[in-house]
Amino acid sequence: MKTKKSQKLYKKALTLMPGGVNSPVRAFKAVGGNPLFIAKAKGSKIYDVDGNEYIDYVLSWGPLILGHAHPAVVKALKKAVERGTSYGAPTELEIELAKLVKKAFPSIEKIRMVNSGTEATMSAIRLARGFTKRDKVIKFEGCYHGHVDGLLVSAGSGGATFGIPDSLGVPVSYTKETIVLPFNDIEAFRATLKEHGKEIACVILEPVIGNMGCILPRQEFLEALREETEKYEIVLIFDEVMTGFRVSFGGAQSYFGIKPDLTCLGKVIGGGLPVGAYGGKKEIMSFVAPEGGVYQAGTLSGNPLAVSAGIETLKILSKASTYKKLDKIMQHLEEGLKDAAKRAGIKVKFYRAGTMFCTYFTETDVIDARTAKTSDTEKFKKFFWGMLERGVYIAPSQFEAGFISLAHTQKDIEKTVKAAYEVFKKL
Ligand SMILES: *Cc1c(COP(=O)(O)O)cnc(C)c1O
Repeated sequence: MKTKKSQKLYKKALTLMPGGVNSPVRAFKAVGGNPLFIAKAKGSKIYDVDGNEYIDYVLSWGPLILGHAHPAVVKALKKAVERGTSYGAPTELEIELAKLVKKAFPSIEKIRMVNSGTEATMSAIRLARGFTKRDKVIKFEGCYHGHVDGLLVSAGSGGATFGIPDSLGVPVSYTKETIVLPFNDIEAFRATLKEHGKEIACVILEPVIGNMGCILPRQEFLEALREETEKYEIVLIFDEVMTGFRVSFGGAQSYFGIKPDLTCLGKVIGGGLPVGAYGGKKEIMSFVAPEGGVYQAGTLSGNPLAVSAGIETLKILSKASTYKKLDKIMQHLEEGLKDAAKRAGIKVKFYRAGTMFCTYFTETDVIDARTAKTSDTEKFKKFFWGMLERGVYIAPSQFEAGFISLAHTQKDIEKTVKAAYEVFKKL
């Protein structure tokens, strides 16, 4: 594998940006070695600056569910650009996107667009505090909700990757209002509410944890969260920035049949452009400015480019045949990888939720952050580089989910499974 140009660019980037990147996990620190610089992408493939081609299971960390540069999205973007990139005033497009989201997420009666997932969770928490007039927040170990100050405790993603329990620069007083509990642990949750129930503004979670690999919730756990938060009048927030349109068309909430009070979205709804959104019950959303007293604003929020890409993406996802096709692709990959591991005689745990998945190198059932950490990260490193050499690009960390797109073909899956078998055999 030639990487001369990538190495040269990385060296230059290191002199200009912290770690040479604009988001930490891109730097390949968890797997050792240097990142690849990408030149272009189309469908299921990305191409680096040295001309190598890879089947992409990162898909910009989730958003590109239609694949890279989908013709309908590209066309809509070109048209939108010609009309001007942003006006700082309302457009009809925003109404169209809001309607499309609402169709998939009936729990979202009203929505506010923002520019990133981080902004969505940060704003949803401010709103929950404003609505309940309470301060405390419950989050779960291994759940990542963006780099919001008060939520950077026991977070997944970069935090899990680097083993940084907290970030420098976050005042202790901020995280003092955050209670961290183990995921899937109903008893710990009930006991905490018994003691602090009346002080808690909201409970926020990734209903399927995608920032610690792929950790499925127990149905009873989600039911207990809904039941108990109702009892104590706590706002239940599903952070579906990753799971939205990925676990199913209506996200994890539709798949598990649980209706949260607020939902955070991002990634897929921007079709590959910077985006975020939060929404939910009308009575809660009416607290958002200018209707209510919870201030939140954004110069480029709901801008016509991100919204156009989002609309085209959701339109295609709205077709019944789309998820059938996605499911078929994912099923082939699941069966292929499980079979490859078995034939190679290696013990792995494979988990999947809709179009998200993760392979852990462990014999322990992964149900929370603690059990996820039993995965052999040395094996993962070798797996990562082995796959890359064979033209398969997966996330450069054990604790990230993999994603498929509508553009992944039968041939892509076969090539991936063959590569996985060869690499598994060497572990
Ligand atoms: C990606 C992600 C975020 C943060 O979104 P950004 O757009 O990176 O700020 C928040 N929550 C979850 C669950 C995510 O996966």
